[in-house]
Amino acid sequence: MEGLIVLLIIVVIGMLVFRWNNKHRKQKLEGFQLPGNAPEVLEEHVAFYQRLSATEKVEFRERIRDFLSRTEVTGVGGVEVDDVDRLLVASSAIIPIFHFKGWRYNNISEVLLYQGTFSKDFHTQGAGRNVLGMVGDGALHRQMILSKPALRQGFLAENDGNNTGIHEFVHLLDKADGATDGLPEYLLDKQHIAPWLREMHRQMQLIRQGDSDINPYASTNEAEFLAVAASYFFEKPELLQEHHPELYQLLCEMFKM
Ligand SMILES: [Zn+2]
Repeated sequence: MEGLIVLLIIVVIGMLVFRWNNKHRKQKLEGFQLPGNAPEVLEEHVAFYQRLSATEKVEFRERIRDFLSRTEVTGVGGVEVDDVDRLLVASSAIIPIFHFKGWRYNNISEVLLYQGTFSKDFHTQGAGRNVLGMVGDGALHRQMILSKPALRQGFLAENDGNNTGIHEFVHLLDKADGATDGLPEYLLDKQHIAPWLREMHRQMQLIRQGDSDINPYASTNEAEFLAVAASYFFEKPELLQEHHPELYQLLCEMFKM
């Protein structure tokens, strides 16, 4: 009987601690604030944000606030991370899922910023350092690595349709169904899968023939095609629509634009 009472007390204490922890975490997430100059920074640097209505801008800021309350942005090897970096990382994350109300990434908790490019095994010195961003796997599960200069250039430089931050978050979305294969099954309705595969392969063929303005890196494989085409779509939608109307239409379906 006494044992039962002790057990009961332990269970009740356990439940109280669990509830307190949950409440505490919720308060911490809800209390997280964006820097005061966030609207100006977004207005100045994020083309996608500039095109939103006033109401959508408020929603966009709430989505990036929520993202940053749950995701660390960490500099590696002495890299300093400032508010602009955090806002650009969060914008990269939210742009692809902005039209999916209430969506959150459940496959990332930290974004690491490196000073330059790095090799596929994360060396920042020596040969083979040509990677601008990477979605982590294995030991780096739930992490993403971005080159800080590439992140900034994607938003701040003359807009050429390439954006490393958006590119990597599209890989993360693609990966969410278990396979990074250019077919983001959570985003595509069944009836759009076959047209998407057809259009993707047609476009990759055109790139290989030198008949396309899409970054040739997109012909590497299907996953890279999706990430490159999506960056083009979010950065220069009018141009993509003009040059590749079918591809544009399918990306509209995919990202609910
Ligand atoms: Zn890629």
